[in-house]
Amino acid sequence: MEMQLAHAVATDVGRVRDQNEDAWLAVPAGRLFAVADGMGGHAAGEVASRLAVETLADALEGAPPVDPDSAGSELGRAVLEAGRRIHEQAERVPERRGMGTTVTALRFLEGGQALLVHVGDSRAYRLRDGGLRRLTRDHTWVQEQLDRGLISEAGARRHPASSVLTRALGTEPRVEPDLVEVDWRPGDVFLLCSDGLTGPVEEGDIARALRDSPDPESAAAELVRLANQGGGPDNVTAVVVRVATEPTSEAAGPRPARGGSAAQA
Ligand code: MG
Repeated sequence: MEMQLAHAVATDVGRVRDQNEDAWLAVPAGRLFAVADGMGGHAAGEVASRLAVETLADALEGAPPVDPDSAGSELGRAVLEAGRRIHEQAERVPERRGMGTTVTALRFLEGGQALLVHVGDSRAYRLRDGGLRRLTRDHTWVQEQLDRGLISEAGARRHPASSVLTRALGTEPRVEPDLVEVDWRPGDVFLLCSDGLTGPVEEGDIARALRDSPDPESAAAELVRLANQGGGPDNVTAVVVRVATEPTSEAAGPRPARGGSAAQA
């Protein structure tokens, strides 16, 4: 089954922050998409998130992967290398000490398979037959409390410590990513997003925006609008990828792109 991917990205600084430290990556030819949410003072977060997506692009931008095993180890290696580069800079440059980033990357393979690699609290979702499924587990203190049954889903989303990460890329010399195998079918819509979306916007509203939008462009724009309507407490980034049901004129484009800020996007 030959896959046709249509994608769009929307990113925004939000209504509270004065810089956008999210970064994103969209390489249709390599069937590779990613979002990263950087942290650290003196704009170091922006450096970290950009280093993450640039390292992934450098490592994986070539031909699409052929088999899941090699694709999985390639993806895992690329994320480890990104973490190593970020940590190295954080150690070397005093203003960047302690910087880190989340990264959530999705790579489509032939035959209905895809691979997700993930560190932190940026998320991946899949909309199928109208139902939204979360594909990643947050590496957060709050998620751990949730797993132990100490707080509820509703309590987790509004928790004051909701942004405290238990794993971030670059904060240690070596941070292991989660690697998740997922499947795709024609008609599926995948979403990669930073917590600037999932903090202020309920999953039911995310599902509705993905379901009701005619194309990835309007879906991504609507998600950013919802985040800002919800107060825009953080930078927000949405990468929306639709697996087309039939060949479309979008198959050859849009051109590969990557970005680290609203201005570049
Ligand atoms: Mg964030």
